[in-house]
Amino acid sequence: MRRGLRLICAVMVCLLLVGCGEEPEKSRTIFAMDTIIELHLWGGNAEPCSDALVSLFQSLEQTWSPTVETSLLARMNRGEEVTLTPEEEALLAQVEALEAETGGAFHPRLLALSQAWGFYSRDYRVPTQQEIADALASRRWDLGAALKGYAGTQAAALLEEMGVDRGILNLGGNVLTFGTKPDGTDWQIAIQDPDGDGYAAVLSVSGTMSVVTSGDYQRYFEMDGVRYHHILDPETGYPADSGLRSVTVICADGLRADALATALFVMGPEAGSAFWREHPDFEAVFLCSDGRILATPGAKLSGCVYEEIGYAQ
Ligand code: AMP
Ligand code: MG
Repeated sequence: MRRGLRLICAVMVCLLLVGCGEEPEKSRTIFAMDTIIELHLWGGNAEPCSDALVSLFQSLEQTWSPTVETSLLARMNRGEEVTLTPEEEALLAQVEALEAETGGAFHPRLLALSQAWGFYSRDYRVPTQQEIADALASRRWDLGAALKGYAGTQAAALLEEMGVDRGILNLGGNVLTFGTKPDGTDWQIAIQDPDGDGYAAVLSVSGTMSVVTSGDYQRYFEMDGVRYHHILDPETGYPADSGLRSVTVICADGLRADALATALFVMGPEAGSAFWREHPDFEAVFLCSDGRILATPGAKLSGCVYEEIGYAQ
């Protein structure tokens, strides 16, 4: 309930910030990939394109959801023999490359661990050390930390192919921009305040770009006065406790943006900044637990006081 409310609020904030005089030619809200997806498209083909996007998201869910019993991922997790299309093979290869690049902070095989914490069944509990060890050893696939970003980039290719002029998609907090706003200015994307339903900062973004946020407020439970969230540290098996409330990554490649947002959240502000210095092909905004906001120099941030992350340490 609380999560649903937050998602709706996030969507509303995004909508408020679209704020332009011209109405979108096609706006649509759907539920797919376990999230609320908002589409706003402008241009001649907006209507058929919105139908094509719905099919795309449903098909990605049918292939990659670990909880759809007939999905490719579920069959892989059961150890069944599967034949992958070149596209499916490429996605898994990219995901494995991101795991290696982030030193395992982005870990696409944590399904059993998330299940042990009850994040799938919503029957929340703190697992024992033995359960954590068993869950980590089972290495069952879960692309939940990267699939929405991947979907965003697939969606952008579809918008391009179908000749849509411009658009903005919000996949449960994963935002994809396509082109500029109708008045030619940048999109304004809100970064949610982790403690409220307002926003902590605003990002200006243009062109085909993914803006992906991982935050400790997106899915969590409380037990005996302790708050446990859904982004797990593969080293401890516990929710990452790295001094962050959220990380937003801005990157042209949605899969990369999504995987890195999760990984940087696990790494924390210092290691995350060091990672960016070594791989400066994206921008990032860190909302720290102590209230500081850190941003890479290319992030076009407003509406907040922040410290710029330096190129040299
Ligand atoms: P995100 O919201 O993109 O950060 O993804 C979080 C989701 O990915 C969780 O709900 C889990 O399903 C899964 N997950 C949790 N921790 C990790 C991790 N360290 N690496 C990859 N996936 C994770
Ligand atoms: Mg992610």
